[in-house]
Amino acid sequence: MSTTLAEQPFVVDSHCHLASLSYSGKAGTTLEEILCRARHCAVTHYLSIACELSEFDRLRELTANRPEVYLSCGVHPLNIKAGERVPADELKSRLSHPRVVALGEIGLDYHYAADTREIQLEYFAVQLELAQELKLPVVIHAREAAADTLKLLRSDCARNVRGVLHCFTDSVEMAGACLDLGFDISFTGIATFGKSDNVREALKYVPLDRLMVETDSPYLAPVPVRGVENEPAFTRYVLDYVAAFKEISSSQLAALSTRNFETLYGVKLPETNPPEVPCSRYKLEPIFDVPLGTQVKACPRLR
Ligand SMILES: [Zn+2]
Ligand SMILES: [Zn+2]
Repeated sequence: MSTTLAEQPFVVDSHCHLASLSYSGKAGTTLEEILCRARHCAVTHYLSIACELSEFDRLRELTANRPEVYLSCGVHPLNIKAGERVPADELKSRLSHPRVVALGEIGLDYHYAADTREIQLEYFAVQLELAQELKLPVVIHAREAAADTLKLLRSDCARNVRGVLHCFTDSVEMAGACLDLGFDISFTGIATFGKSDNVREALKYVPLDRLMVETDSPYLAPVPVRGVENEPAFTRYVLDYVAAFKEISSSQLAALSTRNFETLYGVKLPETNPPEVPCSRYKLEPIFDVPLGTQVKACPRLR
């Protein structure tokens, strides 16, 4: 990888669900604490996703006065209510919020809900058309639904629509097809799991200028903290793992992932200073306060 790339002191968690954290565990009991922990890991910006309208409303309130938290809203395939139409007008009103940069997550999930295939397809198509109309990039969730996902992304519904396949777990062929269509690919902690050879195959294939890292917190905590509630700070584990796998430094990957994020979502992430106040109200785990560029080691106390 190019050695001319500037070293970068911070990284963005390109996909998390701040309104779905439990606020009861180690991750912290307030958003303030959770983002403070993340800042101590140099994770300074976030795209927080809402999977339905009510989640967006909670998220908007929760993150008021937090310019570093970007927002996205869509109806997730597992949040579709049988017999209801896509709430297009309500969704549009949510998407007009100034911190919204994307529509999603939307898509298809045949792993958990193969029985609702027809209505999932309808919701996906309608929301892709909405993204086209609003000129918003989309965040796509595709699970065991590669063929239908591609069919819709190649259809008129998605003409000129760009976006990202988040939490990528599909084949190299699927990655290639999505890249050809202009979509980026984002990886979670699943890439660090022992059994995820297929994800690592895709990771090997996806070029660095089309790749992002994310936590998808509170789900899918990466190795070495698998099993605990995931939080934005753990972007560092995904970042460090992917960087080592791609044989570049963590700060180079941070720079690339941030640049790809800025390009896709049309934002410029401001440089942030290191955390001004140490989070003294609670004990920081040893992985915190590790400057970007230092490989993060497993933290036994978090296991
Ligand atoms: Zn998802
Ligand atoms: Zn998600």
